[in-house]
Amino acid sequence: MKLPEGFDFTQSNLKDYLDCPYRFYLKYIRRTKWPALLVDDALEFEERGKAGARFHRLVQQYLLGISESRLDEIAESNPNPEIVGWWENFLQFVPPILKGQQYVETSLSTPMLNHRLLAKYDLILVADKSQLVIFDWKTSSKRPKKEWLLNRVQTRLYRYILAQAGGSLLISDTVNPEQVTMNYWFAAHPEVPVTLTYDQKAYEEDQTYLENCINEILDRKEENFFRTKDLKKCRYCVYRSHCDRGVRAGDLESFEGFEMNEEDFELDLNFDQIQEIEF
Ligand code: SF4
Repeated sequence: MKLPEGFDFTQSNLKDYLDCPYRFYLKYIRRTKWPALLVDDALEFEERGKAGARFHRLVQQYLLGISESRLDEIAESNPNPEIVGWWENFLQFVPPILKGQQYVETSLSTPMLNHRLLAKYDLILVADKSQLVIFDWKTSSKRPKKEWLLNRVQTRLYRYILAQAGGSLLISDTVNPEQVTMNYWFAAHPEVPVTLTYDQKAYEEDQTYLENCINEILDRKEENFFRTKDLKKCRYCVYRSHCDRGVRAGDLESFEGFEMNEEDFELDLNFDQIQEIEF
């Protein structure tokens, strides 16, 4: 399958492929728009997504030096009351652990199989001049287990790309996987982030995993992007009615908010406009 010119692999499109090859095909190759609602309570779903995006924006502005008092006002004026609590949690627990050079909303990419792997990081911290620490802010109410987070494509992709391309953030220019750490910080569980270290073995496994995944996509014939057999993946998919996988969507109560892609709700931030460092 020939992908569109300049197609980059991101955590979002890889996750779509892993969830359902047919969703990947509809979204990125056919570029099919389908107006199905993600969940029954679509307005609340949208509001939750927007609240996550607004919280990311608050944190970004704070890290870029906007005054705390100004950001307090913005948080308090937000229609979603949860944001104030997340914001207070952030201010109490996160700044004390951000010791080092900060790279806010930074994108990095690295080539793979004639395409690029691309990651947008909420924050990369260079600590002790040699440690590269990823911070990813999450606003889901649930805090997943470490083992589950380790297997997420976002974790694999973000740590791998930083090990490949993070040298520009250091004096040494090269990065050993052991220098990379990924922190998921949960606004609703703020005391300590979930910390995932990295090493050479995991790096090599991730490289093989990502190459296999991309090769599989590139080798697939158009007619072989099959629909997933796991009907759970269809519950919140926008193509549900297109695929005849039920007219009613899943309810918001059982939706795993962790998998909500806040990038889809970003109001003012455009992924393509964010400064990117390429290798
Ligand atoms: S509704 Fe199900 S089968 Fe159809 S694209 Fe979405 S996940 Fe795939």
